[in-house]
Amino acid sequence: MNVLVINCGSSSLKYQFINSNTEEVLAKGLCERIGIEGSQITYQPADGDKEVTVAPMPDHTKAVSLVIEKLTNPVTGVVKSLDDIDAVGHRIVHGGEKFATSVIIDDEVMKAIEECNDLAPLHNPANLIGINSCKALMPKVPMVAVFDTAFHQTMPPKAYLYGIPYSYYEDFKVRRYGFHGTSHDFVSAEAARVLGKDRKDLKIIVCHLGNGASISAVKNGKSVDTSMGLTPLEGLIMGTRSGDLDPAIVTFLANKLEVSAEEVLTILNKKSGVYGLSRVSSDFRDLEKAYREGNELAKITLETFSYHVAKYIGSYVAAMNGVDVIAYTAGVGENTSIVRAMVGEYLGYLGTNVDPERNKMRGETVILSDEGSKVVTMIVPTNEELAICRETVRLVK
Ligand code: ADP
Repeated sequence: MNVLVINCGSSSLKYQFINSNTEEVLAKGLCERIGIEGSQITYQPADGDKEVTVAPMPDHTKAVSLVIEKLTNPVTGVVKSLDDIDAVGHRIVHGGEKFATSVIIDDEVMKAIEECNDLAPLHNPANLIGINSCKALMPKVPMVAVFDTAFHQTMPPKAYLYGIPYSYYEDFKVRRYGFHGTSHDFVSAEAARVLGKDRKDLKIIVCHLGNGASISAVKNGKSVDTSMGLTPLEGLIMGTRSGDLDPAIVTFLANKLEVSAEEVLTILNKKSGVYGLSRVSSDFRDLEKAYREGNELAKITLETFSYHVAKYIGSYVAAMNGVDVIAYTAGVGENTSIVRAMVGEYLGYLGTNVDPERNKMRGETVILSDEGSKVVTMIVPTNEELAICRETVRLVK
């Protein structure tokens, strides 16, 4: 089966076209600046050169039509015609409490996704536009929605409730949802597979450390807690997001800066995190370089980031009454050894002995802890597109 995986943002559309039998990525790319002047499509076939084409894209339907054009191009395309696209898998950010698993998209599902719009006002409407565009151009092709929140729907109330009046949960569904669920699911399953164990027998902590970052506690194959909340702002310090803070800071800063609470939230989402703290960059490669050059604020930032990761790991050991595996994933988790080393300094009490030599590894599945270690620490590269492809095939077949 050939599956087109779509991740649609308000002005962008990322795609991968995957042969589900071989799990080979036949082509991938990105449409940028949709609806804005200067839009362009990047197309990278597996066996060819990357192409960047400047082309007007007034809307997402035009973007999807360009993706189809590229995939079926007689010279550089990877399939002959539209008929060779067997299914489409859509990444949907928020499924609220309505979706605990992926689903085939029909009118009712579209309505239910729309009802979650107020929980993710920037993302869900864009995801729906992506679905509508694909439906317009490929009316007969089955489509599947894979939700970022679904894997965490197994959390018990004690993990998802906030200490605020219960009516806000009843009336407005204010609760922890968590995100990156596709990645936490994929990585915990992959960790168990690599170790030759059944995920149902393991307590796994997944550290998804990318530009957005979250940690989850996966007990016996189910997410029992995760660090992101109602929105992706809660939890770890991230590239540009603050993560956890005293909620009173919002009005305190609004008063000091003479701006609205909404504007403070923009600062907390876009100007904070390691970017705001370090004054260097949101990119950990820049941070690491600055640290090695002796930049004191870069050092403090890396230490603060790692300290927060270690504290979450400690709290999830408590939540699960133990841990068997700690799995690092995403850009920073897979590549930034200094962060893993700094986090590791706090975890000796668990009996996780990360071998400093192995810890230099990056970007591949590898066990970092030594043989005598009570807790296995490992890197497991995430692959959200492949996970979406697998989910799509599972439902469509
Ligand atoms: P997201 O998907 O949330 O945008 P990623 O998982 O791609 O984020 O992670 C991006 C982060 O990973 C950046 O801070 C980047 O510096 C860091 N990183 C560190 N080393 C590498 C590397 N070799 N390749 C890619 N990203 C890296």
